[in-house]
Amino acid sequence: TDIEELLLSRIRDVADYPEPGVMFKDITPLLADPAAFTALTDTLAGIAERTGATKVVGLEARGFILGAPVAVRAGLGFIPVRKAGKLPGATLSQAYDLEYGSAEIEVHAEDLSAEDRVLVVDDVLATGGTAEASIQLIRRAGAAVAGLAVLMELGFLGGRDRLAPALDGAPLEAM
Ligand code: IMP
Repeated sequence: TDIEELLLSRIRDVADYPEPGVMFKDITPLLADPAAFTALTDTLAGIAERTGATKVVGLEARGFILGAPVAVRAGLGFIPVRKAGKLPGATLSQAYDLEYGSAEIEVHAEDLSAEDRVLVVDDVLATGGTAEASIQLIRRAGAAVAGLAVLMELGFLGGRDRLAPALDGAPLEAM
């Protein structure tokens, strides 16, 4: 569609960042373009409404930038999933493997309950490891997953297939 074309035209490819051989998708041109940022926010808010979400979870850090206006637009609460050690309250933690080593993400346990259906928002789906860990966190908090919405999916990394069991039928939407 025209909107998808607009959005994808505002993502910049940066070669060899953050390390040689990686083609980094930089979303800052989209954020700087009010028409594109508004179109993305409206599209994601529509997904939140269609999937019956009651909360929006954003993944640190670009998922915060994209997810917060979606929550406001859809009239839902925004919940940050952060890298370990950043949230002051009682947290649930989930470790996951990276190419080299591992990482850990956290959410405030009191932010999610069994009544919630959560839309997870992030900028780029790569291997799916971060999204998979966030879905595990949401389920462990007792909440349901309404879906995962990303601006961009790097299809060649196989994230969609990896996430299928965790999503368990919930939609994965990419622009
Ligand atoms: P994954 O866990 O391998 O799917 O990596 C996804 C996470 O890394 C997301 O939180 C993204 O923000 C980030 N990421 C991976 N590749 C890119 C990229 O090319 N541009 C921006 N973020 C990226």
